[in-house]
Amino acid sequence: MPEVNGRSYRPARQPTVVVCVDGCEPEYIAQGVAAGAMPWMQRTLQQGTALIADCVVPTFTNPNNISIVTGVPPAVHGICGNYLYDPASGTEVMMNDPKWLRAPTILAALADAGQRCTVVTAKDKLRRLLGHGMQGICFSSEKADNATVAENGIAGVLELVGQPLPDVYSAALSEFVFAAGVRLMQTRRPDVMYLSTTDYIQHKHAPGTPGANAFYAMMDRYLGELDALGCVIALTADHGMNAKTGMDARPDVIYLQDLLDGWLGAAAARVILPITDPYVVHHGALGSFATVYLPAGSDRDALAARLAALRGVESVHTREQAAAHFELPGDRIGDLVVISERSTVLGTSAARHDLSALEVPLRSHGGVSEQRVPLILNRRIDGLDAQRRWRNFDAFDLALNHAQ
Ligand SMILES: [Zn+2]
Repeated sequence: MPEVNGRSYRPARQPTVVVCVDGCEPEYIAQGVAAGAMPWMQRTLQQGTALIADCVVPTFTNPNNISIVTGVPPAVHGICGNYLYDPASGTEVMMNDPKWLRAPTILAALADAGQRCTVVTAKDKLRRLLGHGMQGICFSSEKADNATVAENGIAGVLELVGQPLPDVYSAALSEFVFAAGVRLMQTRRPDVMYLSTTDYIQHKHAPGTPGANAFYAMMDRYLGELDALGCVIALTADHGMNAKTGMDARPDVIYLQDLLDGWLGAAAARVILPITDPYVVHHGALGSFATVYLPAGSDRDALAARLAALRGVESVHTREQAAAHFELPGDRIGDLVVISERSTVLGTSAARHDLSALEVPLRSHGGVSEQRVPLILNRRIDGLDAQRRWRNFDAFDLALNHAQ
C-alpha cells in the first residue's frame, strides 16, 4: 500500500475518478439541484456521501489542486500561489514549474505501484505540476491538439474525444475535460483518473443563473456516464467564488501598493497577488488574498494594524502567523498576509489592473470567504464524523480507502 506524505492509499479496485470543479461554491450545486438541472447529483447527495470541506487558503487554483493530489497543505507541498516573489533572484515568477514542488503526488505513487493513472486538466498551466513524476496519461484540453505519446502518454486526443479544440476562455474547455474522461474510461479504463476543470463560468455566472445551471447540467450528464461505467467518483473544488463588487457593480478594490507607496514611499514595499496568472481576463488579477514584502527596518506590527483597520480588510497576519494558521510555507510568503472580506478584493496599483476586459460584475476568490467547498462521493461511507474538519485534500483518502 503506497504511503504518500504520511498517509497510506489503497490501490483502486474499482476505477476511481477524483474531480476538482474549479470555483465550485457549494451553492452552484444547490441551485442546480433546485432547478432540476442535476438529476445525478440529486440522487448522489441522497445515496452517497455529501460533506462540506475547507479548501486551503489562499483559495486559489494551484495551491488547492496540488493539495488534492498530494493530500497535504501547502506547508508540505510548497505551492502557495499561482505566482510568487522569489527573493533569491529578486523576480516575480509563475509557480507552474515542478521545481517548486516539495512533495510527491498520490498519483505518481499509485503509478509506481502499478496502477494506470490518468490526468486531464483544462488549463495547461497545471499539467506539469499535476503530472510530475507520474507514469501515465497527462494532458490539458487547452493543448489537447499537441498531445504526444512521449510527452503526454497519449496522442490523437481530439479524434478520441470527437470535439474540436476548445477556446481557452470558454465553458467548452471544461466540457472537454469531462468528455475526455468518459472516452478514456470507455476505451482504456484507467485505475485512477484526476479531472480538473476551469472556473471561466463561475467567474462570470452566479449560482442559479441560466449560464451556471447549463454548465452544471452538462457536468451532471458526464458524471452520470462515469457512474454508469462503474466508477467510484469523488467530487470536490479548489475554492469557492463570490461577487466582489460595490453597489455600483464596479469591483470593490483596495489598492494595497498605492496605499503602501503613500505610507512608506514609492515601491518601498512590494505587494504580491498570488492569483496572478497568464489568464487574467476574467478576474483582472483581483482576488481576496495578498502578501506584502516590507523594506528592512519597517514597523511590521504597526503596518499590520493600519492595514487591518481598513474597511473591507478581514484580517492581517504576520508571516509566522499566516504560516501556522493557513499551513503555508513561511519562506514563500511575504512579511504580511492580507485577506479581504467577502465582497472586497485586493489590488496592487490602480494603474496596473486592466479592468476593461471585465464584461460582467467581478466574481472572484482567494480569501477565507471562499474556503467552503463540496466533498461528494457516489458511495455511502458509514461512520464518517460530520463534526470533523474535512478538507478538499481528503478526496483521495475517502475515494480509495473508504469508498471501496
Ligand atoms: Zn480555481
